Amino acid sequence: MEAVAQVEQGRTLNELEAYFKQYSDLPREVVLKHDLLRDGHWFTDAALELAADALVKSYRLFSYDLIPMKDMKRKEHRKITEWFMMRGGPYGLRPVTVQTTLNSTSPYVIDAVDGKAKLLLDGHEICDVSFPRPLKYYTRKFEDGTAYHEIIAYGYFVTVFRNCQYWGPDEECRFCDININARQMKDSKDFTFNPPVKPVDYMVEVARSIEQDAADEVGFTPLIDYLITGGTILKTLHGKDEDSFYLDYASALKWGGHRRHVYLQTNAKDKETLKRYRAAGVDGHHANMEVWDRKLFEWINPGKNRRIGWDQWVRGMVDAVDVFGETNVRPNFVCGVEMARPHGFATVKDAVKSTSEGFDFMMKNGVFPRLNQWRREPGSNLVSQHPQPSIPLEFYLELMTASYETWKKYRLPIAPHNSVHPETRIMGRGHGTYDDIILLNEVADYEARVDEALRNGLKACVHAHANV
Ligand code: SF4
Repeated sequence: MEAVAQVEQGRTLNELEAYFKQYSDLPREVVLKHDLLRDGHWFTDAALELAADALVKSYRLFSYDLIPMKDMKRKEHRKITEWFMMRGGPYGLRPVTVQTTLNSTSPYVIDAVDGKAKLLLDGHEICDVSFPRPLKYYTRKFEDGTAYHEIIAYGYFVTVFRNCQYWGPDEECRFCDININARQMKDSKDFTFNPPVKPVDYMVEVARSIEQDAADEVGFTPLIDYLITGGTILKTLHGKDEDSFYLDYASALKWGGHRRHVYLQTNAKDKETLKRYRAAGVDGHHANMEVWDRKLFEWINPGKNRRIGWDQWVRGMVDAVDVFGETNVRPNFVCGVEMARPHGFATVKDAVKSTSEGFDFMMKNGVFPRLNQWRREPGSNLVSQHPQPSIPLEFYLELMTASYETWKKYRLPIAPHNSVHPETRIMGRGHGTYDDIILLNEVADYEARVDEALRNGLKACVHAHANV
C-alpha cells in the first residue's frame, strides 16, 4: 500500500493510474506495455551492468529506437537487451515481454534497486524487470569474425537482405528505417557483419547450431520456428528475382535440418506464386500491409501501392490462408501510423474505426494481423520530414479493445510460437499486445506456465502453448 501511495504523487504516474482506471477492462500489463513502446525507455549505468550477460539487442531490421545510434554514447546498442520482462511491483503485474525501445528522454527508466532491475516512472517503482538469457550459439563466430547471432537473431529472426530496393520518398514505406539502420550499424563499426546480403551457407550453419543447442537441452530435436525477411527486390539481386532470391533461403532452411517451421515475409503474392512458395518449403506467409485504410496505404506505402496496390494486397493475404492455413498468415501492421502527420486521421475515434473494420474483414477470412507498434524511428521519412508527436495512448487501448472483441467473434487460434527461448513460447511478442491481450484474458494458468518455463527451461515447455 505504501508503495502505491508513494507512486501516486507523480503527475505522470497519476496519468498512468488514471488510464488503469479508465480502461479497467483491459489488463494493466497491456496499458503499461503500450506506453513503454509508445515513448520508449532508458537504462541507467547500473541497469546496463545488470543486463551485461543477457541477450543483446540484434538490430536485425528496423532500429525500433526513438533516438539514432550516434546518440548512444555508452554504446547502448551493444549493451541493451532484445526485450525485457516486466512483472510484479505495486500493481501486481503478470509477466509480459517488452521489446527494448531506446529513448533517452523517456520518463520510464530501468534502474538497479538493491541490486535488482526495476522499472521506474519519474523515479517511482512500477515493477520488477528481468532480462532474457542468451542462447549458447550467441558465443559462436565464423572464421571471418561474423557472430552467429548477427545471422539469425534470438534463434528465430533471419533478415537475409538488409536493404530495400524501394528507395527514397517515392518508394520506401514512410515509417521504415531499414536502409538508414543498415548504414548506422555499419558506421558504428560495432557489428561483425555488414554486407546487405547474408550468405545462405552461414544461415544454414547457424540454424544447425541452434538446433543442436536445443537438442542438447531437451534430448531430441524439437520443432523450431524461423522467420525469413528482408527488403523488397524490384528487379534482381545477385541475378535472382524476389521470389527466387527468398525461396533459395526458405528451401535451404526448411530442408537443411529437422522439424523446422519457416515463415516468410515478402510483398503480397498471387495464389499461384504462393503455391510455389509452399512447395519450396514455406510454412507460413506474411505480406505486411502496415496500414488498413486505403488512402493511408497509398500514402504510407508508396512502393507497395505502385507495384501491388491495395486490392491485390488484400487478395494476397486472403489467398495465403487457403494456401498455408489459419495461424500461418499473420501480416504486420505498424500500429499508430493511422495517426501520423500530416495525412493520418485527426481523431482517435476515426483511426480506431478504420483499422477495426480491417480487423473484422481479415479475421473473418482467417487472416490474423500482428499489430507491431510504431516506434517513430528518427531516420524514417515520416519522422525526418514532419514532427511526429507521440500517438495518444487512448488510440492503442481502444484499438486493442476492438482487436480483442473481433477475436472473440471469430476465435482464430494462436499458433504456438516454437521458440528456443522457453518463456516466449508462453508470452506474446514484445513489439505489441495483440497476443498478450488474449493470453492474459483467456489462459487461466498463464502465470504458472511462465513460471514453469522460467524454472525448467525449454525441456519443460517444448509442447506448451496457449490452447486458446
Ligand atoms: S518493403 Fe517497406 S517496410 Fe519493407 S523494407 Fe522495404 S521500405 Fe521497409
